[in-house]
Amino acid sequence: MLDQPLTLARRLETLSEQYRGLHGEALLRPIVEREFKGRIALVSSFGTESAVLLQMVAAIDPALPVLFIDTGKLFGETLRYRDELVALLGLKDVRTVAPSALVVKERDPDGMLWQKDGDACCFMRKVEPLAQAVKGFDSWITGRKRFQGGARATLAPIEAADGFIKINPLAGMSFAEIEAAFETHGLPRHPLEAEGFPPGGCYTCSARVAPGADRRSGRWVGTDKNECGIHDSMLSAAL
Ligand code: SF4
Repeated sequence: MLDQPLTLARRLETLSEQYRGLHGEALLRPIVEREFKGRIALVSSFGTESAVLLQMVAAIDPALPVLFIDTGKLFGETLRYRDELVALLGLKDVRTVAPSALVVKERDPDGMLWQKDGDACCFMRKVEPLAQAVKGFDSWITGRKRFQGGARATLAPIEAADGFIKINPLAGMSFAEIEAAFETHGLPRHPLEAEGFPPGGCYTCSARVAPGADRRSGRWVGTDKNECGIHDSMLSAAL
């Protein structure tokens, strides 16, 4: 974590200038190998689009730490898909990030917090555990894309937030380019993709979407919630 706000702002300015116009592996490789060597991790949900970025990371450094948030409410298919990708890509340092059993027992004894207060549930199951896990790094990589819309529509490939430099190598990629990358690298599909489920998340908060509809619209249906909080001020609150 880069403690000084000024240091963070200067670092962002320098990196943005130096890597202007780059994305994908062309951006990620020098960031991993040079700028944040040993100080960077990938955060992955192992959801329906995650394999593209995982393949990219594996090609650069299969020992790069991959942080996987296990909320305890993930689809079994996601856990099996994670194992399949780890074996296929030779990922050597996948770390499961999860809330402690004690915290879950205290704050969500009946397991229904997701229904009563989704933000509190995401905070306990995702945001707090991730905040602890990323503390030892200066930078983390995300798989967000602009085509996902909402707050992501203007996403920059490099950003500064919560004391970290965040790298978004896929920010500018289109849905068609993501699809093409699956073909190019022979990547397996998430078993739930064909059933129309959103890119990743808990079974409690995911619903099938119609073919051609925005996949993310299948998350937190019937609420105004559209992010889990790891990319907004909730993470700062948990650090
Ligand atoms: S997605 Fe739903 S179940 Fe999962 S952590 Fe967030 S609110 Fe809880």
